[in-house]
Amino acid sequence: MPDHKDYYAKIRAASIVDVARRLIPERITVDKGSTLNVDCPRHDSVSKTSMTIDGARNVFFCHGCTTGGDVIHFVEFVTEGSVTKDVRDRMPESHRRARDWLANFLSLPTLASQSPEEAEKVERGQIEKERLYAVLGAAAEMYHASLLESPRALAWLEEKYGITEEIVRHFGIGYSGSADMFSRLVNEHSFKTKHVLESGLFIWGNDERPHALFRERIVFPYHSSGRVVYMIGRLVPWADHVRSAPKYMKLLKNDPMRHRYVSPHLANPIWGADVLRRRDLREVVITEGITDALLTSWQGFDCISPVTVGFKKRRRARAVYGAAPCRPRRHRAGRGDLGDRVAGIGRDVPRAQRRRDRSRGRRAPARRGPGRCAQRATRVRRR
Ligand SMILES: [Zn+2]
Repeated sequence: MPDHKDYYAKIRAASIVDVARRLIPERITVDKGSTLNVDCPRHDSVSKTSMTIDGARNVFFCHGCTTGGDVIHFVEFVTEGSVTKDVRDRMPESHRRARDWLANFLSLPTLASQSPEEAEKVERGQIEKERLYAVLGAAAEMYHASLLESPRALAWLEEKYGITEEIVRHFGIGYSGSADMFSRLVNEHSFKTKHVLESGLFIWGNDERPHALFRERIVFPYHSSGRVVYMIGRLVPWADHVRSAPKYMKLLKNDPMRHRYVSPHLANPIWGADVLRRRDLREVVITEGITDALLTSWQGFDCISPVTVGFKKRRRARAVYGAAPCRPRRHRAGRGDLGDRVAGIGRDVPRAQRRRDRSRGRRAPARRGPGRCAQRATRVRRR
């Protein structure tokens, strides 16, 4: 039996592009390698291209059915016509059949072949995780809306980092002003108090009340397979507690002594780690800072940022080379490890990427000058 904790992660690691090629090859109308357009098998499409399959993020979306999701949702949608989300109790059979189909596709044992107790344990863990991500996703949307309503925060982001409103919208960046997020999550989204506390976004105070962890912070969400799975908050300079608070803040961690209420499923991920799943990944840029990673990724480079995790050399090698099925040709490392602002970027990376894009007939990403991250990286290499 595979490791219970990672069973769903292994299933979700299946490439949605490979799965589409196996399941509905005759319906693929536009094939750009890691992105496909598909004639949706679940509605009559005039354009025959209404479903988009995004291999980089391993997700799909049908504009006709306004339905999307990860690779398990995709199989369930194509084969069963439904998509399982927001499960409160037990997984429906359509979800189980889709999951087992993927297990067979990946030559993994199916949960159906395990004892009912084991299968139930894995499913329960997954339901808890999905609930956690639902709370984080709802919170991220509220933060995002409040950033778009704050001209001051938007102007500061652009001036300080070169992050424009377009980039804010693309990455779903948010701002935690003074809105009462906790009661909105409970009242507007009908999440239970217990489940909101599991998100690690609130400190349960001695006064028996929840206190927001992110106050006056720019909030950067982490996405994986289309879900928000983590966040970090960057203090803004006009915050009243700017002298006493750390510049960056991570979510609370499950801790038996202090924060028992935080979900044990909340893990520190690597920002952008979805790209490591891509089969055609050649180079990956590793930046320390999240803003560097956003800008690098915005310019069209595959990029990860391990800012929230202890990212030693050993782990870097595993992340870049070990993540099946990624086989990068070259990984340029800066000097040292996390001491550098940027661990891996080289002049030949953009050139190689442009070559690759040309060979696939894809337009090279629009260049907007070297960008701050590239300037910093160059400085690191020259030091
Ligand atoms: Zn459709």
